[in-house]
Amino acid sequence: MLVTAGPTYEPIDAVRGITNLSSGRMGYAVARAALEAGAQVTLVTGRTGLEPPNGAAVVHVVTAEEMLDAVLRQIDRCDIFIGVAAVADYRVANPQEDGALPTLELARTPDILEAVARRTNAPFCVGFAAETHDLARYAQEKRRKKKIPLLAANPVQTSLGTEDNELLLFDDDGMHRLERSRKLDQARGLIRHIAKLYKPSRATVTVR
Ligand code: C5P
Repeated sequence: MLVTAGPTYEPIDAVRGITNLSSGRMGYAVARAALEAGAQVTLVTGRTGLEPPNGAAVVHVVTAEEMLDAVLRQIDRCDIFIGVAAVADYRVANPQEDGALPTLELARTPDILEAVARRTNAPFCVGFAAETHDLARYAQEKRRKKKIPLLAANPVQTSLGTEDNELLLFDDDGMHRLERSRKLDQARGLIRHIAKLYKPSRATVTVR
């Protein structure tokens, strides 16, 4: 299983940058819950102050481009991809000299989840969405647009930087609500839901 977590950071100059609000707690909890369930887990993480769970292979990245590269290097070895990272939407196309009053030109960062989901032989892909309003409508639209079987949505107001969360899971059957609880319990609920939906499609060979 490959999990992305935390924010990405796009430098403006040597000390300033564009980033997203994300503690990384939900992504780290998902990695931990997957390990508990017996998965081999690679965690590709932006900058957080968190200790990665024991047993995960950890790749530290800073920018969205680096996160995409790290994900693509691992993707053929993974069956399930969970994009929990809060990827910055824009990067600075004209990096600034220190001290100059900047006029920033922005360029879109790559959509990592979309890039993974559209691959032939794509792993089972799970997305996250944080919405401020009309959560169910936006979540289902996002799931269809990104062509992913499962999307977990959380209301921004009650989930950012907090200890607990209240995920709504959207799949082909509609919406499933996880009762408000600690992020690790939400992550365990998500992993249980994935286990119900996931059908191994890649041939596996066990050599003894
Ligand atoms: O930002 P957005 O609401 O589109 O994020 C939804 C999902 O897409 C999340 O799972 C996030 O990790 C992923 N994403 C991504 N690359 C981006 C933007 C979002 O992988 N550039």
